[in-house]
Amino acid sequence: MDRILDGSKDQADGQWELKLRPLCFEDFPGQSKVKEKLEIFIQAAKSRKDPLDHVLLSGPPGLGKTTLAHILAGALDVNIKTTSGPAIEKKGDLAAILTNLQPYSVLFIDEIHRLNRTIEEYLYSAMEDFYIDLVTGDGLGARAMKYKLVPFTLIGATTRAGLLNAPFRDRFGIVERLNFYDKNSLLKIVVRSAEVMELDIDDDGAGEIARRCRGTPRIANRLLKRVRDYATVKNNGSIDLELAQFALDHLEVDSLGLDEMDRRILTLIIEKFEGGPVGIDTLSASLSEERDTLEDVYEPFLLQEGLLKKTPRGRVVTRAGYAHLGMEFPRSSDIQI
Ligand code: ADP
Repeated sequence: MDRILDGSKDQADGQWELKLRPLCFEDFPGQSKVKEKLEIFIQAAKSRKDPLDHVLLSGPPGLGKTTLAHILAGALDVNIKTTSGPAIEKKGDLAAILTNLQPYSVLFIDEIHRLNRTIEEYLYSAMEDFYIDLVTGDGLGARAMKYKLVPFTLIGATTRAGLLNAPFRDRFGIVERLNFYDKNSLLKIVVRSAEVMELDIDDDGAGEIARRCRGTPRIANRLLKRVRDYATVKNNGSIDLELAQFALDHLEVDSLGLDEMDRRILTLIIEKFEGGPVGIDTLSASLSEERDTLEDVYEPFLLQEGLLKKTPRGRVVTRAGYAHLGMEFPRSSDIQI
């Protein structure tokens, strides 16, 4: 997968990750409806001295789910313990976490759709009534007992809310989906990140990065770091429109923010499958890319930009998709939209 634009968190950029992460709602532009609701729920929970209801945050990678979980804990003035679905392998792992939580604190589980079913079901009583069944002893002497937990708030993050079982999803009182960011919010994010990194950047340079970051703050920050490299080498460290355009072109990020992989997906469907429809598994095999990565990282943006369309028979490149690649839309095609 392309290391510049993918949605994952890599180590080299890790040092900035913490510094760039906003710590409060005021420093977190965008997602205004979600923020407004959360702020009200927080205020209400605090004034009733209740724990905040469990929260499920969904949306493509890099949109701020983890950041929001930390902001929520900060606004509630409580501790946060973070883990992820794949890291909890046994009931005992989860029991150890739950029995060590501080009252009213937040437990953040990233990639919560990857919890295995047994663990997920084990969470039900913890979420609903703040207790778990603990087994003590072995063999015939084994005894199950109910263990009372402190009140806590579970915040789950997922790229695929649809993969969660309904009984699990229903146990979250607050369910919010994060969407791709608008240009204005992205501009604020780039300007703020540039300030944190003490960069010399003008509005047009920042605007260009905001336009070409696939509506995703993590990618905006990552592009900013790469553009900074070009600025250091080519422009005495300063970032203006010309430099930003030069750097982004060089990084093969196009005018819509598509990277090489996005273009490969569209081109492959057009050239090998006559524009589609083509099933996701066939696509995954042809591109040697995991199905999950295609569905979580690449497709959401292509769909939202209207370059790709999902149909019951598979993925189809739209007229806009052909146009973006400078290819002629097949008029006679019967599969089109
Ligand atoms: P997710 O958990 O959804 O994958 P993260 O919360 O890890 O995303 O965010 C990725 C990066 O993007 C973080 O380093 C954070 O600094 C930045 N970020 C995300 N949302 C915002 C925002 N609204 N404002 C500023 N920075 C943001």
